Amino acid sequence: MQDTLRYYLRKIESLRLGRSRGVPAPHKPLLLLSILDLIEAGEIQANRIEPSPRLVEAFLRYWKHIGVGHARVFLPFYHLRTSGFWHLHPRKGKELVLGSVRAFNAMSQLAGMIAYGSFDDELFALLLEPVAREHVRQTIIDAHLPRYRSVIEDIVNENREVARTERCLLRQAERSIATSDVPESPVRSAAFRSVIMKLYDYTCAACRLRIITLDGGSAVDAVHIIPFSISHDDGIGNGLALCKIHHWAFDNGLLSLDDRYKLIISSTFDETGPAALLLHNLKDNQILVPSRKPFHPSLHAVRWHRANRFQA
Ligand SMILES: [Zn+2]
Repeated sequence: MQDTLRYYLRKIESLRLGRSRGVPAPHKPLLLLSILDLIEAGEIQANRIEPSPRLVEAFLRYWKHIGVGHARVFLPFYHLRTSGFWHLHPRKGKELVLGSVRAFNAMSQLAGMIAYGSFDDELFALLLEPVAREHVRQTIIDAHLPRYRSVIEDIVNENREVARTERCLLRQAERSIATSDVPESPVRSAAFRSVIMKLYDYTCAACRLRIITLDGGSAVDAVHIIPFSISHDDGIGNGLALCKIHHWAFDNGLLSLDDRYKLIISSTFDETGPAALLLHNLKDNQILVPSRKPFHPSLHAVRWHRANRFQA
């Protein structure tokens, strides 16, 4: 084993953990495992780890099984800097403020001040190599989370399957391969949600709302344009990101899309409320679509929705 790897494995073994209710808090090791997963999935390719919704979601997959109480991802993101191999990069103009901060109390507060974290370059280069990355993962588990070995291995394997399925959905969309009539599977559903959220950046296609909570919850859903129960289609062309209210309105036929992805609004309902929230005010607005055409909603799905759900 090369010396550099051995050096970092020792650093990871001796990582000082915070304490929570008298026991070592798993935040730092879980953050490291989450970053390894995103590197492996190809979502982190540069030594620039942003406090993003993807990172929060990856962290929560572990936290659900291993953590207790609120998953405060911003804690390890900040405190890992004492490891010596993790560095914080303030946003422009926030350098001085960051220096005086003692603690963060929300991911959004952290993201407002810190653009990204990074590893020592030598360590990041090792994390890009599958064999070295596995050594790092095993060291994290052995040193800090031995009781949870099998839970962690199950999560890593599931993440691998979801990432593989996501790549498959992207490939199928790029090559216009039919995606309907597939059996329902939790991995495929997770991959559909994940790929749609990524393509739409957690933003409602109709109103551009983007809310992400401290615990990784999102006000935006990955929606099947033709319901899965009818189409059995988890393809990207059958997907759309919509906030809760526009998801509900879409499923109930109050809004739909024309062939140029402009919103059309049903004339069958009354509404009152602040102008910014009224569905009728969205009429003719162009929805947000992913930048690449193969990932746009399919016209087949859009036309189906208009013919079968929309209440003109
Ligand atoms: Zn919306």
